[in-house]
Amino acid sequence: MTDGAVGACRFEQVRSAMLAFRDAREWKPFHDPKNLAEGLTLEAAELLEVFQWKTTEESRALTEDPATRAKVEEEIADCFLYCVMVADAFGLDLIAAAQKKLAANETKYPRDKSRGRREKYDAL
Ligand SMILES: [Mg+2]
Repeated sequence: MTDGAVGACRFEQVRSAMLAFRDAREWKPFHDPKNLAEGLTLEAAELLEVFQWKTTEESRALTEDPATRAKVEEEIADCFLYCVMVADAFGLDLIAAAQKKLAANETKYPRDKSRGRREKYDAL
């Protein structure tokens, strides 16, 4: 099994477990695309809250703080699971979508033009 196949297998296990969790609670009727997008945004805000009022240097230092690492782990998992459910609502393959976006970013941000620069693609 290739690393990609292992990754796909692990993703499918998480995806199946998330959907089973939802279905066991009969929450699918509440999980319309609008509610899921709102949930994703709220979870992203919970991630952002970790860094509220912190400087760039302080935010970097927090990567070594166990309590912050645990909080970030929880919030990125929430975000990921909402992404899984949004993808499911639209019948999209989340991994394929991410691969497609990475390929598009390769074109948008050519290495020779974007290396070491933070400008958006249209300002390169
Ligand atoms: Mg959360």
